[in-house]
Amino acid sequence: MFATVLASLMTLAPTPPAPAPAWRTPFENDPAGNTTATHAECLAYYQRLAAAYPTRLTLREAGPTDSGQPLHEVVLSSGSGAGFSPQAATEGTLADRGLKPAPHRRPVVFIQNGIHPGEPEGIDASMMLARDLLQQPELKKLLDQLTVVIVPAYNVDGMLNRRATGRANQLGPAAYGFRGNARHLDLNRDYIKQDSRNARSFAALFQRWQPEVFVETHTSNGADYQYTMTLIATQHSKLAPALGAYLQGQLLPALYQGMERKKWPMVPYVDFEGETPESGLRAFLETPRYSTGYAALFNTLGFMPETHMLKPFAPRVRATYDFLLTVLETVAAQAPALAAARAAAAAAMAAQPTFPLAWALDEAASETVSFRGYEARHRPSEVSGQPRLYYDRAAPYTRPVPYFNTYRPTASVARPTAYLIPQAWAEVVETLRRNGAPLQALARDVTVPAEVYYVEDYQTSPRPYEGHYLHRDVRLRPATETVTYRAGDFVVYLAAPAPARYLVETLEPQATDSFFAWGFFDSILQQKEHFSAYVFEDVAADLLRRDPALRQRLEALKQQDAAFAADGAAQLEWVYQHSPHREAGYLRYPVARWLGPGRVGE
Ligand SMILES: [Zn+2]
Repeated sequence: MFATVLASLMTLAPTPPAPAPAWRTPFENDPAGNTTATHAECLAYYQRLAAAYPTRLTLREAGPTDSGQPLHEVVLSSGSGAGFSPQAATEGTLADRGLKPAPHRRPVVFIQNGIHPGEPEGIDASMMLARDLLQQPELKKLLDQLTVVIVPAYNVDGMLNRRATGRANQLGPAAYGFRGNARHLDLNRDYIKQDSRNARSFAALFQRWQPEVFVETHTSNGADYQYTMTLIATQHSKLAPALGAYLQGQLLPALYQGMERKKWPMVPYVDFEGETPESGLRAFLETPRYSTGYAALFNTLGFMPETHMLKPFAPRVRATYDFLLTVLETVAAQAPALAAARAAAAAAMAAQPTFPLAWALDEAASETVSFRGYEARHRPSEVSGQPRLYYDRAAPYTRPVPYFNTYRPTASVARPTAYLIPQAWAEVVETLRRNGAPLQALARDVTVPAEVYYVEDYQTSPRPYEGHYLHRDVRLRPATETVTYRAGDFVVYLAAPAPARYLVETLEPQATDSFFAWGFFDSILQQKEHFSAYVFEDVAADLLRRDPALRQRLEALKQQDAAFAADGAAQLEWVYQHSPHREAGYLRYPVARWLGPGRVGE
């Protein structure tokens, strides 16, 4: 699918006529094309468009950001403003989940720019594209087929922190914003934990629109090669089979061909393990902390176009414009196939018996990409005198390169009927609600059998990552117990239209980006009471006298383990952990899996 489209098939895409001078963006007003709009210029431009085309474009505030300034959404749709409401989108999504028909659903394409404001191509390209969708007759027709939602600048905070030196490896623009937000968070790691107000506002916006396709615009780092545009598509292996097959078989080939026709041959994002790309491209595993990984939890197809940082800013903006336009053209043309694939994915999720929790690259599965690179060579470093890598632009090549693009599940879990969540964990409850989980408060106390987890082991990163000490390699001991949840605690059923996959990947502690992994439940990992050894010696002796079976187990352990037999403190601790004094809540995950049919407590 990445083979070069034959020259005979290539037709030049019609270039939209130049805009009237009054409608030029700051990027277009710079003859060198090395300028990106400031946040104020960007908003002012959309305000002018909204005033001039009130029936086809609206600009609205969409919640707070950590900067103190609001997030904004731009909505483009024909139909005298009727399409500005996500109501149609909501009905369509319910239909996608098999609940009721919504034949007039127009696909929603959600474009988010400026998450990394030092990578601002999409900010400028979207301003131009929005204008052309309103002014160019050929493009105007698209708004009869699609609703386009644009977040002009997601990381408002970083965009206000404008400078000229933050991206050491990037060629222009002259000044641009900073990657971190006002809390120094990378928002493209914040989609699950949602520490930032930006992420919370985004989640509400995303859940209101439930888009078919989500695009977040970026600029690459890494190797040098011929391409101006590279693409991270959401990992097809992680999607429901119908949606993965549609992405691989129809949508992606059309996007690659469309970009080739527009004279921007495109390649999968150039990520590799060796020194140079010839070692093989490896598809990015976007877990749910990332934008496209989050979108995939809701059967939304996500894309991260990554322009190449060593190309001048002007072609990077033009390529981003053409990519966004190609997405709109393709989604419009393939709307029935996309709707069918999403409906099949929703139906599959409604009946899915197990859910994967973690993934690993299949090193044995690869396809071949015809890769347009530059020869990599070495020469002595002027800094250190040691050999250094450089790419020789005088020596371009086209060469077959393996592309590893298949992931396999490494852990999975059986689907519960529902999760039971104590109201005490308010941050978890609020986050779930914000992301569309239909939580119901229990009207009265319930005592029911349910599956609970005891945390047997886990690893924790020694330094903070995005404000958290992440856990991984979580080992659990499941147990079926009779549990009591009180009135006001929450139950969330996985049945449609609940976002089952989102619930599983956040509430199962072994999932890569679970709330447990991000430290939302850390207080259970610490014991609250203990004992003074000299006092507990007598208590333990008494316990063992009254419980011969416990005494027998202790003696057996001492027989098996010489170190244990010689360690009085370890034996005392063992008796404590097997005594009634042991803390029931210590290492016990407070969210229970309810497996029964029907409703909890009925
Ligand atoms: Zn980026």
